[in-house]
Amino acid sequence: MKVAKRIEEVREFILEKRNQGQRIGFVPTMGYLHQGHLSLLEEGIEDNDILVLSIFVNPTQFGEGEDYEDYPRDLDRDLELAKKVGVDLVFIPEVDQIYSKQSATTVRVEGLVDGLCGASRPGHFDGVCTIVTKLFNIVNPHRAYFGQKDAQQLAVIKRMVEDLNFDIQIVGMPIVREEDGLALSSRNKYLSKEERKAALVLSRSLELAQDLIGDGQRRANIIKEEMRNMIEKEDLAEIDYIDIVNQLNLKKVSNLEGPTLIALAVYIGETRLIDNLILEV
Ligand code: AMP
Repeated sequence: MKVAKRIEEVREFILEKRNQGQRIGFVPTMGYLHQGHLSLLEEGIEDNDILVLSIFVNPTQFGEGEDYEDYPRDLDRDLELAKKVGVDLVFIPEVDQIYSKQSATTVRVEGLVDGLCGASRPGHFDGVCTIVTKLFNIVNPHRAYFGQKDAQQLAVIKRMVEDLNFDIQIVGMPIVREEDGLALSSRNKYLSKEERKAALVLSRSLELAQDLIGDGQRRANIIKEEMRNMIEKEDLAEIDYIDIVNQLNLKKVSNLEGPTLIALAVYIGETRLIDNLILEV
């Protein structure tokens, strides 16, 4: 497994592989790898000749007062896991490799970023789109893998790739969960034992929504209200948002129909967790 810190090293490696006719898969991450990340890597290894992993805690997607400084990092462990699963190249740039002082360009997808996490984290998706564009231009992959865990991110990236004519296939991968239902996240590390228990309320509220829909409920307000009631019973939980939107355009729906995304963000103590459910109604 090759580990590259510099852009030129990545370009050189990729150029050689592309010249040999090899297919390049790419998984961008912020590291502190867990089974969710590994599921993307495994799929990417299966589908492609070469798999590139990037680990970069991207400062421009964190807002003021967010956890950029504290974001969990463990490079040695990440490299070990990457090697074990069969990654070919890991790109671990420093911030100044990626952003120069003169840097003046931001990539912004309009509309899709207005609701859900985009509303609570202004500028977040501009940071995401800018870094993903830069990484796509550096790695030049045939395919890139993103988790459905960040459903809005996946929708935004798909729109961006189409709008900017990137010749890259975007592959969405299902949410990997702990046995008890908690969606895996690097931020779960922040949770105390008590909070870890309380955090189950996110997946439980989605299960409740699924049951209601199974029983024939189609009114978004009623489903959200029931979810809210369940979450508010949990002392350590504070709701950021609960929304039900069309999965494709992320517009709010009042009656569920077609591809639907139920998404929520909840603070458990200081930690902001997200989860979602996609279903065809
Ligand atoms: P991150 O390191 O949090 O930026 O995540 C890197 C990629 O892994 C993103 O495409 C995420 O959507 C994906 N990911 C994170 N957690 C999970 C999970 N529990 N299941 C599936 N994919 C995930």
